[in-house]
Amino acid sequence: MEIQKDLLEPLLRRFTKYVSIDSQSNSQNADNGIMPSTENQWVFARTLLEEFKSLGIIDAELDGNCYLLARLPATPGKEESLTFGLCSHIDTSGEAPGSAVKPQFHKNYDGRPIILRDGFSIDPKSDSDLASCAGRGDTIITSDGTTLLGADDKAGIAGIMTMLEYLISHPEIPHGPVEILFSPDEETGHGMDKVPLDRIRSKAFYTVDGGQEGELEIECFNAWKCDLMFTGIAAHLGTARGKMVNALTMAASFISALPQQESPETTDGYEGYFCPLEAEGTIEKARVSVLLRDFDRANMEARLDRIDVIARGIEARFPGGKIKVARSQQYLNMKEKLEAAPHLLSRLQEAAGRAGVETYLKPIRGGTDGSRLTEMGIPTPNIFTGGHNFHSRTEWASLLQMGSMVGVLIELVKVWGEQ
Ligand SMILES: [Zn+2]
Repeated sequence: MEIQKDLLEPLLRRFTKYVSIDSQSNSQNADNGIMPSTENQWVFARTLLEEFKSLGIIDAELDGNCYLLARLPATPGKEESLTFGLCSHIDTSGEAPGSAVKPQFHKNYDGRPIILRDGFSIDPKSDSDLASCAGRGDTIITSDGTTLLGADDKAGIAGIMTMLEYLISHPEIPHGPVEILFSPDEETGHGMDKVPLDRIRSKAFYTVDGGQEGELEIECFNAWKCDLMFTGIAAHLGTARGKMVNALTMAASFISALPQQESPETTDGYEGYFCPLEAEGTIEKARVSVLLRDFDRANMEARLDRIDVIARGIEARFPGGKIKVARSQQYLNMKEKLEAAPHLLSRLQEAAGRAGVETYLKPIRGGTDGSRLTEMGIPTPNIFTGGHNFHSRTEWASLLQMGSMVGVLIELVKVWGEQ
């Protein structure tokens, strides 16, 4: 696609600038209700607010919780078109070092392994996505190996900004109004806790937060967490026979009774799992938390029941010991609600087709801000960004794939304006 070529230079310039600004979030702070969880997210959000203004977008506001909401107005005659939104997150993951990112540019990538510092490397032999970038004149961007890159989700933000600049400098292209939401703390799972629903006008959004070129996501896990409290009976160890019930032994028995073949490390695709996440305790009391994941709602019910059945079985083996199970829902598969609004996906596929990008659907083995928004009544599929190996020091991005994302976003705005 011709327009993409002109856009690659500003796209790369923006991306480089954004990844160089620290915006790592902090899960502990976020769990304690601090929003945003880190001060540096403000710095990045203010930078983006300034950029909206310099692009000529006056309707842009950064609220007290670090949500940045901006609107691209419709072109004359298109004011009545439906508003839709695009969403990316400003924070980067806390799972790898994320400050002082030094982006490296592997120009004209030829398919050789990319060697980073600290013994890290990315080998196209074991990374077919990277192998597919070789010999196309692509630029691969990585960190220097001491940090993550931050393509998650700065590739998405750079893509949206570049799309806006293109449409603003081409006023002859008709389009309806578009809302842009840049949110904090997605990586902590609290990204939509304080989303300003009262200010959002769109009935539909797309998150721009995916991976490989062409990948579109309309379904994610159903996610529940079970917290189990084991109560034993303490006694002097010298005279414990027939009296003591060890809560730790009960907890360990419970964990080993979970099906090993249904764990994150033994499943992929559409398979669900149980994952013991944390355990602590003493002889008297022990606590275990377990994550449950499944794409299918009925299967999730069965998984919840299975936790109860295993717990009752352990109780029977340890007379006098007690187990209490507390369940909490974390997020739900957005598929049902997205299938009730099929135009979201069909417009996205139409846009990708016009941009010359072949698409495919992939289930997300996790949740996104989009799954939370979908639950809140704003159906939100996810669009690829061209970023890969998220949350790690071997994270990388393909400039050509990022360019394809911009192409799709431009066409998507046009398609929505035609309705
Ligand atoms: Zn992300």
